[in-house]
Amino acid sequence: MDGDCLFCRIARGETDTRFLLETDTLVAFRDIHPHAPVHLLIVPKRHIRSINDLTDADRGVLADLMMSARDLAKTEGVDQSGYKLLFNVERGGGQVIFHLHLHLMGGWNR
Ligand SMILES: [Zn+2]
Repeated sequence: MDGDCLFCRIARGETDTRFLLETDTLVAFRDIHPHAPVHLLIVPKRHIRSINDLTDADRGVLADLMMSARDLAKTEGVDQSGYKLLFNVERGGGQVIFHLHLHLMGGWNR
């Protein structure tokens, strides 16, 4: 845990962010600066900086992120019209908050 990390604070429930999903390992909520009609962030509760910092012990967390994305796409109604799943990795890859998160974006043509 990193006390100053925004996503750690959100995952601990220290902000007024409304969760669309919360499990033992992750939370999901809407991006406050959406780049698509549906733009969710799926965030592991444990602080992991980026994809580069994943270890073998994180395989389960990574699977949880992807399976939750599948479920959220369905509840958001974009599973059939289509969506993107995206990890930005480090600054050159567009990562802005250095706590691993999966973007789910869709809803352009429903
Ligand atoms: Zn964090």
